[in-house]
Amino acid sequence: MSASPRVDALVIGAGPAALAIASALGERGLRVEALAAQEPDAPWTNTYGIWGEEVDRLGLGPLLGHRWSHTVSYFGSGQPGGNQATAHGRDYGLFNSNALQQHWLGQTSRWGLGWQRGVAAAIGHGPGFSSVTTAAGQEHRARLVIDASGHEPIFVQRPSPGKGAAGVAGQAAYGIVAGFSAPPVESGQFVLMDYRCDHLTAEERNEPPSFLYAMDLGGGQFFVEETSLALAPALPFGLLKRRLHRRLAQRGVAVGEIQHEEFCLFPMNPPLPDRHQRVLGFGGAASMVHPASGYMVGALLRRAPGLAAAIAQGLDAGAASSSAASAAGWEALWPLELRRKHALYRFGLEKLMRFPEDQLRQFFASFFELPGEQWYGFLANTLPLPQLVGAMLGLFARAPQGVRWGLMEPRGRELALLGQLIRG
Ligand SMILES: Cc1cc2nc3c(=O)[nH]c(=O)nc-3n(C[C@H](O)[C@H](O)[C@H](O)COP(=O)(O)OP(=O)(O)OC[C@H]3O[C@@H](n4cnc5c(N)ncnc54)[C@H](O)[C@@H]3O)c2cc1C
Repeated sequence: MSASPRVDALVIGAGPAALAIASALGERGLRVEALAAQEPDAPWTNTYGIWGEEVDRLGLGPLLGHRWSHTVSYFGSGQPGGNQATAHGRDYGLFNSNALQQHWLGQTSRWGLGWQRGVAAAIGHGPGFSSVTTAAGQEHRARLVIDASGHEPIFVQRPSPGKGAAGVAGQAAYGIVAGFSAPPVESGQFVLMDYRCDHLTAEERNEPPSFLYAMDLGGGQFFVEETSLALAPALPFGLLKRRLHRRLAQRGVAVGEIQHEEFCLFPMNPPLPDRHQRVLGFGGAASMVHPASGYMVGALLRRAPGLAAAIAQGLDAGAASSSAASAAGWEALWPLELRRKHALYRFGLEKLMRFPEDQLRQFFASFFELPGEQWYGFLANTLPLPQLVGAMLGLFARAPQGVRWGLMEPRGRELALLGQLIRG
């Protein structure tokens, strides 16, 4: 076996994370190959949303297929007097998935990235390389392997949650793109969270809550999605689908022809990966989903160049040992500040998962009363730790008494998460 691989980095996957990091590594002048289970230009089925400001700061506004300025949420009960909209005053957009994919594919082809087809099945490590074997028995070697195979990674290892610990919470949603007998949301409107629950019986309101995420796509088409922010185990699709239809019926809206159905399920709060492993992760594989909102694409776009720079430096520094590059990569991906913020977000999510429906509505109403740059920075994960803590204290100060008590009462693994916040 020759010990000197042809390529610097082998990226596993062809989703947003794989394309983002492969393209950033190519830009750094590294020799990159990608190994994917499907064709790299196979259409993505997920719909990816993002705040307008995030894409604008990256200069990628033209990649949006839709953009709304009329952005609202509803945190009232839906009973008379509880139908007031909370205006967000910030643009929200939906990527044109094909344009986003082609943006990255164009860059990777410019840097000469080589695509390999195959299902990665096993990994081994030598002194200056790692070697991936596919299910078909083909071997691919590189100085560094980056696992971007999604939320259930093929190679990246995470610590187990421990015996008796609550499982990983899943964000679950059932959505449709369709025509309707009457507009399910106002014309030109984007609804981030509609927590009104007047379509449910008093008994049903004691069950874990869900909200409507909805938007006017133009041309008589709307996307409406019943979403459970996070729960362990996740809310079943059947229940979300029934709730969506009940919610629409309550407003006198009948579903017409369905163009697309979305079944969304991904883990919100997996533990952070072990940072001492030889394989590096990116995207869902590296637990990069924002544990309090479920967003990730903005973080991929923002963070891929910095990670690529750290990898290039690590490969330069450790010419004989590829572990220098993975160590540099993990440190760049999860430095102490981000680990602390992650623990804080997970702590917040634990609280939210315990809140009954009325407290949850009050919590979010208080959250969106925070100054815009604070709630936006919280959701986009762009606030430095001290400002993030400041935003959380501000929220605590303005929340009603019942919510404050819920935030203070330590339960389950919350104390352990506070410990992580301090230790990092
Ligand atoms: C329905 C849905 C909607 C979402 N909406 C949003 C949103 O609006 N905004 C947002 O920011 N985030 C959203 N997310 C969260 C997150 O951004 C997505 O899950 C995103 O697709 C994760 O990107 P990824 O590249 O890490 O993983 P994936 O997109 O899952 O891609 C993994 C890739 O790895 C390949 N692969 C897997 N195993 C192997 C193997 N063994 N060998 C070779 N290749 C392999 C797969 O074929 C795929 O190409 C959503 C998630 C879902 C499920």
